Amino acid sequence: MTSNFKVNLMGIVTPTKGNWTGEQNFCVAPHGRATILQFSPDLDNEWSWFSELVSMVFLPSPPCAASGSRCSALLCRPKSISATAYKGSISLLPVKGSRTKRPPLQQHAGSCRGRPYAAVQESAIKTESEIQINVEDESQKRVVLPTNESSEHLLRIRHTSAHIMAMAVQKLYPNAQVTIGPWIEKGFYYDFDMEEPLNEKDLKKIKKEMDRIISRNFPLKREEVSREEAQRRIKEIKEPYKLEILQSIKTEPITIYHIGDEWWDLCAGPHVESTGKLNKRAIELETVAGAYWRGDEKNKMLQRIYGTAWETEEQLKAYQVQKEEAKRRDHRCLGQDLDLFSVQEDAGGGLVFWHPKGSIVRLLIEDLWKRRHVQWGYNLLFTPHVAKADLWKTSGHLDFYRENMFDQMEIENDLYQLRPMNCPYHIQIYKSRLRSYRDLPFRVAELGTVYRYEKSGTLHGLFRVRGFTQDDAHIFCLPTQIKDEIRGVLDLTEELLSEFGFKKYEVNLSTKPEKAVGSNDIWEKATAALKEALDDKGWNYVYDEGGGAFYGPKIDLKIEDAIGRKWQCSTIQVDFNLPERFNLLYVDSATERRQPIMIHRAILGSLERFFGILIENYAGDFPMWLSPVQARILPVTDAEIPYCEKVVKRLRSLDIRAEMESGERLGKLIRNAEVQKIPLMAVVGPKEVDTQTLTVRTRHGGELGTLTVDEVVARIQASVACRGLV
Ligand SMILES: [Zn+2]
Ligand SMILES: [Zn+2]
Repeated sequence: MTSNFKVNLMGIVTPTKGNWTGEQNFCVAPHGRATILQFSPDLDNEWSWFSELVSMVFLPSPPCAASGSRCSALLCRPKSISATAYKGSISLLPVKGSRTKRPPLQQHAGSCRGRPYAAVQESAIKTESEIQINVEDESQKRVVLPTNESSEHLLRIRHTSAHIMAMAVQKLYPNAQVTIGPWIEKGFYYDFDMEEPLNEKDLKKIKKEMDRIISRNFPLKREEVSREEAQRRIKEIKEPYKLEILQSIKTEPITIYHIGDEWWDLCAGPHVESTGKLNKRAIELETVAGAYWRGDEKNKMLQRIYGTAWETEEQLKAYQVQKEEAKRRDHRCLGQDLDLFSVQEDAGGGLVFWHPKGSIVRLLIEDLWKRRHVQWGYNLLFTPHVAKADLWKTSGHLDFYRENMFDQMEIENDLYQLRPMNCPYHIQIYKSRLRSYRDLPFRVAELGTVYRYEKSGTLHGLFRVRGFTQDDAHIFCLPTQIKDEIRGVLDLTEELLSEFGFKKYEVNLSTKPEKAVGSNDIWEKATAALKEALDDKGWNYVYDEGGGAFYGPKIDLKIEDAIGRKWQCSTIQVDFNLPERFNLLYVDSATERRQPIMIHRAILGSLERFFGILIENYAGDFPMWLSPVQARILPVTDAEIPYCEKVVKRLRSLDIRAEMESGERLGKLIRNAEVQKIPLMAVVGPKEVDTQTLTVRTRHGGELGTLTVDEVVARIQASVACRGLV
């Protein structure tokens, strides 16, 4: 058996359960398919599907960048193989003489649905097999970047770097006046008032000067002075901005930090002991931009230099790789390039237009979401986008959330409100009849569109918008049901997120804040129930003491994307407040009226934001099942168009999103399909028409040669079933 891609890993799969026995050796390409190298003699011929179909897809989730994205292995089964569940394990070993560089695989886990492809869409998917892959070589482990929160040392480095940069600027440009210079998420900045407009070349010059300051290892000295003394010194060096900053410092004594005897600034610290403690090779000046003094456009325009600073050179390099990757993945650019969505200034900021291709992806997300929710016993709802404002008086939103709400509108002497949340609407449905304890838990779910006011300056692509659709659900239950309900939500969350390729989570459990509603007793019980559910699930989590909402404890979950960024998506919140405000009731077994517990939860967060995350996670290169266009048929000349149209029609009849593009040279057509990141393209010339075949090329599996239409269908369906790339 040969393979048409580079082989650099060998895997051995050992089924341990079911009717498949023996050992099979695979050759595995880090970016491609697996092909069987040899069969154990006791296996029947059915194994041959392995080499013919997409057998094992090593899914770099995606793409398997040198930055160390995770891979997962998926094993597909064709219709001809029985649905017997099996478990197996694969060890990956380097093959001797391999010329390709080994990918930075770490601990991988994947799963296969192990069911007939066509049935995947219709019924519940339960993972029937699991494959564990262990790689011994961990030398290429991803550099974990520290944050200002995780490393105080890093914070000191950034703080100090900002001062050193300001000193360097004033050394080179004596007329430059310094204003403010804080540390930020990935580094620091400083604003300067100066005549000369700075450019990239100047940044190099400034960095060189910074290096000199670092090399001279000046001590950083802290000095406490009175307000008057600080004022006197500032006037002496003629720095008017510092005077304004001094005025805004309310506490005393005033602290000044000196770099040797060369330079000083007002600052509360902390810093490193001396400039030599910084690593020159871990600091970089990034950009220069205009910024108004105090962020007010009526003030003078200043020049802001952004820099980044890290503990080690290795960290800086890793950050730069990540930054480049993030740029390449920016959903706003990809959304335009791939024609997925737009936000149009004419229509208003923060309002999303889903274009045909984006809408297809949304449809797929919604479809999967709805099916899973019905399977998990949720009732799906549709409720209005607008309703009487009184609802928001009862809920309390008009008191504490008003600045985030759109203005009200008057209709027939009543005030109406665009909804900023779905909760009161779902409560209305709960309240529409008297509920018995037998009706609980009552779970309702809605893809509910909400509108919230956000300042225009804070809007950002799909990540921060003014209108968005939450994947919202509310569970009304008995206090004794909290734990099981939360556990169910955790299971559903994992099931849904892993279908989209997100398998690594960071979980927080937030407890009672100082200001809170509800008795201590109910808080304790609910918090314990959340904790039990998490322990039961076996997930690691960290406590955020006092980080809960005033109305109840909560669990927040962040997902990790292909380049290691974390995104907050899912949230599960217990609410003791709204049931009280809306006077929610159920009748218990002794016919007493009692108050149910309410749980708010979202898994994806919002469709808009989740779509943005998906675009960036996949760099627009969606796996087959999510690709807006799965196959593009390309006729070499117009003579092949009728056959191509017939093929498109057949593929579409099988729910495959296929289209034809013609009217250009073949090279251009292929290029177009590549630019559009279409996973499969099929070229049709006179030979293909004669033999009723297609010559297929896949985005992640290379050239597949000439296949019948049925073979192409099987391949696409296999990939969809496996959530595969090819
Ligand atoms: Zn400082
Ligand atoms: Zn809610």
